[in-house]
Amino acid sequence: MGGGDVVVAVDVGGTGMKCALVGPDGATVHTERHPTDAGRGPAAVVDTILDVADGLAAKARADGRTPVALGIAVPGIVDEARGVAVWSANVGFRDVPLRHLAVTRLGLPTAIGHDVRAGGLAEARLGAGRGAGHVLFVAIGTGIAAAHVVDGSASVGAHGAAGEIGHILVRPGGPRCGCGRPGCLEAVASASAVGRRYAELAGTPATAADVAERAAAGEPLAAQVWTETVEALADGLASGQALFDVATIVVGGGLAQAGERLLGPLRAALHERMTFHREPRLVAAALGDEAGCLGAALLALDALGVPRTMETR
Ligand SMILES: [Zn+2]
Repeated sequence: MGGGDVVVAVDVGGTGMKCALVGPDGATVHTERHPTDAGRGPAAVVDTILDVADGLAAKARADGRTPVALGIAVPGIVDEARGVAVWSANVGFRDVPLRHLAVTRLGLPTAIGHDVRAGGLAEARLGAGRGAGHVLFVAIGTGIAAAHVVDGSASVGAHGAAGEIGHILVRPGGPRCGCGRPGCLEAVASASAVGRRYAELAGTPATAADVAERAAAGEPLAAQVWTETVEALADGLASGQALFDVATIVVGGGLAQAGERLLGPLRAALHERMTFHREPRLVAAALGDEAGCLGAALLALDALGVPRTMETR
């Protein structure tokens, strides 16, 4: 890649798209945000993705840069090898051949990735997991999902569904999960589950952030819900560590906004669960909500075969 070359990166979420132009060294030179308006249906969302990507490529050219590839991160089940958005609950994708559509429209080499795996890739290579080699990135928001990144590559799985740590069974007979089974980790410990549980017990609505704050202030109900959350997360992460033996677990997503109020007790609870396993470093994500977009850019750079210059492997 030359000095003025950039990749176009788009991270598609249920409510918004985070977009950027990124240089070969991983540095962002321009960012944009656009609404997804998923309620319009998947065809309209795809049109918007392509319009936005085309607009970013035009912006790059207008600034004297050369767009050389496109990376798009999407939620749900993603077939990265075929470039197909297979299924998504919040955007409504059903077997959308996104890479083919993007190549046809923009004429640029295009990589399609999963949003959480892209975020994990960015955290492992450019963020809080930099230099660790073996990283588990866990995003705790409305759901819980993970990415296992080894030497800068995220494991995709045989069916594009690796990393669904939110559906590890941690509380048999517990609250019913969106997937239909009772007791999954995300039914107990996602940001939405925390708010829901507190509202059930206290009779007043609250966000996970409220619960974290009230627990820290010593409110007994909030403290109980927070402890239950931490214990369930520690069970899930201990399973993750048993499977993957990583050096670093990076915690991101909305619940990680609680910072040490989450990480402090979670570190202690994870420590209690380690027997012969080596204890991973447990850290907060460093890239915030731009991780998925940066990860989309890394996927585009990888697709071009650009050497990894930024990260320590
Ligand atoms: Zn589930």
